[in-house]
Amino acid sequence: MEREFDWKEDTEVFSAIEKERERQEDSTELIASENYVSLAVLKAQGSVLTNKYAEGYPGKRYYGGCGNVDTVEDIARERVKKLFHCRFANVQPYSGSTANMAAIRSLLQPGDRIMGMSVNGGGHLTHGYSLSFSGRDYDSKSYDVDKETFLLDYDAILQQARTFKPKLIVCGASAYSRAIDFKAFRRIADDVGAYLMADIAHIAGLVATGEHESPIGHADIVTSTTHKTLRGPRGGLIMTNDEELAKKIDKNVFPGIQGGPLEHVIAAKAVVFKEDLSSEYHDYIRQVVKNAKRMAEEFVSMGYKVLTGGTDNHLFLIDVLSSRNITGMACQKLLESVNITANRNSIPFDTQKPYVSSGIRIGTPAMTTRGFTEKEFVAIAHFIDEAIKAKDDLKRLDEIKEEVTRLNRQFPLPYEALK
Ligand SMILES: *Cc1c(COP(=O)(O)O)cnc(C)c1O
Repeated sequence: MEREFDWKEDTEVFSAIEKERERQEDSTELIASENYVSLAVLKAQGSVLTNKYAEGYPGKRYYGGCGNVDTVEDIARERVKKLFHCRFANVQPYSGSTANMAAIRSLLQPGDRIMGMSVNGGGHLTHGYSLSFSGRDYDSKSYDVDKETFLLDYDAILQQARTFKPKLIVCGASAYSRAIDFKAFRRIADDVGAYLMADIAHIAGLVATGEHESPIGHADIVTSTTHKTLRGPRGGLIMTNDEELAKKIDKNVFPGIQGGPLEHVIAAKAVVFKEDLSSEYHDYIRQVVKNAKRMAEEFVSMGYKVLTGGTDNHLFLIDVLSSRNITGMACQKLLESVNITANRNSIPFDTQKPYVSSGIRIGTPAMTTRGFTEKEFVAIAHFIDEAIKAKDDLKRLDEIKEEVTRLNRQFPLPYEALK
């Protein structure tokens, strides 16, 4: 029964992990939904809690030996409540998508009407997209942003809601750079007698620190991820102030959708929620927003078409096709060749297929974690512009890549101990 524990022997997997650590170290990470966790979060997630089965909830488990994981999950729930000033929290969802599935199932029966933001306008797949469970199990119609301003038009959404009469309205987005008016959404939902769900997967860190209005108290249910601006492990989260709904949510997460909770991930969530309650984290979020505003401004001054002209949060979109005659896909590839990671993104009413896209989405949370300020983000904006100008000049691209890498290495990741 000898068991080999020397992980260094499994070079196939561990060399890929090591290469990924190096890639993360050398690249400028601009994907708006990514971030770098602390060593404490990694340590909790890489802990022996992964060995434990704990179906159920603290104090009501279907397995023995759950005392320690009960402690951990209770701490995670208490910290979430403090962070978002809400009454009930479920920290078990494996991801933002399963959180949304459990939340929607707590409010709707199959076939009921749901109205969320279109994917093209910046919404998420789980808000009613045809290929998602949310568009297949429910009768879905999406609202869009305004054709001219690319902003949410609350009057138009109200008119659409009056016509469609949804039982649930979903607000929140993956690619919308302006503040969302949760009170306006509440008024629309009340007007048509619908529930309101707010998905703050992207802006959770801004909400937690008061840098964006909170939907708690306006939405019936609030969902989030924990790995984006909150800077925690990959996972989901559901919150409500309604006791009856809280019970339904718990049942819909387990046994409705999921089996055994990932207690090692829940421990990592607990760790990050404490980090997020600190004043350092609040300073970090303020810097994330300052950096995004400054970088968007720089692109505008270089003649790029930044959607809505700027940003209120941690991200913005650039229509690179109309700005510089390069598709989102080509731009993403080009940037990767100079060690800058961003993702192509459809822009509202895009003429290109989603796989190609006219835009790129840029976010500042990850590099702000590494210590980038406005100065470095402005430098990166110019590297991006130079790369686009030099798109067929391999020698120049190599030089840009070297300069980008040199800058990134001045802001190392806190993972020395892992080497
Ligand atoms: C990222 C995101 C999700 C889904 O999160 P996953 O963990 O990838 O499932 C849900 N909603 C919104 C608005 C998101 O941006």
